[in-house]
Amino acid sequence: MVVITQGVIFDIDGVLEFRGQVYPGAPEAVASLRERGVVVRFLTNSTLKSRASAAEKLQRRGFAVTEDEVITASYATARYLRGLHPRSCWILLDGDGLREFDGLPQDEHDPEYVVVGDYRQRLDFEHMNKALRLLLRGAKLVGMQSELIDLSAGEAELNVGSWAGMLERAAGVQATYIGKPSPYVFELALEGMGLEKHQVLMVGDKTSTDIRGANDFGIRSALVRTGEFGGQEADGNARPDFILDSVRDVPALFA
Ligand SMILES: [Mg+2]
Repeated sequence: MVVITQGVIFDIDGVLEFRGQVYPGAPEAVASLRERGVVVRFLTNSTLKSRASAAEKLQRRGFAVTEDEVITASYATARYLRGLHPRSCWILLDGDGLREFDGLPQDEHDPEYVVVGDYRQRLDFEHMNKALRLLLRGAKLVGMQSELIDLSAGEAELNVGSWAGMLERAAGVQATYIGKPSPYVFELALEGMGLEKHQVLMVGDKTSTDIRGANDFGIRSALVRTGEFGGQEADGNARPDFILDSVRDVPALFA
């Protein structure tokens, strides 16, 4: 009988894959951990993807993953909103991630919450001004995550936190941010693992989200020198417990 004693939460982009390419040995590293009875979860700040579409994409790329092991920022935001029992929400989001909000009351004319994700081409003059006016009339602002720049497409692009931050400043309101480094998503990841915080390791490529989030939540972390790792091993007081060349080195931590 395998005795499950430990768990790993993987960031996806920049750790398992990057810009459309799976890192060599990444599927095998995840499989090797599973064989040892390590519980794995996948935590991404992607808002465009639903849990199902994120899991499907990983499966196509050779990872053995189930939908309920994946937490996207859109899924986490929908969970957060359900807990608030909102009167109504306007969800500024494109892609499959929108399905996570099914069943929540949605109203883009007089919402209780303006919820900003990756709305792609519709993050424009018309929609941003509409959001601004709703906030000035008292709607509350939720950002699905707080990252300012997205480098995953190769060129720098404004990320969800930039758009939400613009609305915060203009409307003079404080947004609630859900994705990494917010402890809320780490709590969601830990939920269902059947483990205590001291048994779980976060593996990520960004100090500002993965490592800071793990530090704040109180779990150990490993920074990999792949993806968006830019040589920065510490960010302010955020520090990883381990620094690894790639995800392939993770199983050795459990030997
Ligand atoms: Mg990453």
